Amino acid sequence: MKIGILGFQGAFIEHQRHIAAIGHEPVVVRYPEQLTELDGIILPGGESTTMGKLLNRTGMMEPLRLRILQGLPVWGTCAGMILLAKELVNDTVCHLGVMDIAVKRNAYGTQIDSFEVDVKIPEVCANPVPLVFIRAPYITEVKENVDVLCRVDDNIVAARQDNMLATSFHPELTGNSAFHRYFADMCKNKKSSL
Ligand code: GLN
Repeated sequence: MKIGILGFQGAFIEHQRHIAAIGHEPVVVRYPEQLTELDGIILPGGESTTMGKLLNRTGMMEPLRLRILQGLPVWGTCAGMILLAKELVNDTVCHLGVMDIAVKRNAYGTQIDSFEVDVKIPEVCANPVPLVFIRAPYITEVKENVDVLCRVDDNIVAARQDNMLATSFHPELTGNSAFHRYFADMCKNKKSSL
């Protein structure tokens, strides 16, 4: 499968490596024309304000929003999750606003408040997976159509709504591909249902 990774800035190279390692073709996406060839797209961590501005400037905001609403599987990690949220509780970043979650930006504080923890997420993997949080947001509220996949200290840090997956943390910065496999399965199931 062809899995796109929004390649304006942030941790897109690391996602590329994981997608290739699990046997799929990573495509770095920078132009709206590229959206049609994809089986799924990853919005990486980085800086959500910058990515939001670049989505607008490249004319990709609307076509990407449309593709996601039509069912294109999408996974937002950290800043990518901020782009997906319908509601931002403490900010006005220009974003896609497609997923029924409310997100708090920089909820864990600044860069020095970054941390790592191993957590078992049965839906994703039988063994605990390492979760890396860097100036991370978390989800403060979900609508009833959203499944909560993981909480850390009572805060929601991973959730799924149909074709949309959002994680506060960065699986691409670890050696563990469990989340990439989980997302690839979402893309495969979507492809086989078409
Ligand atoms: N704090 C960043 C933002 O608001 C996200 C940080 C990250 O992606 N690691 O965009």
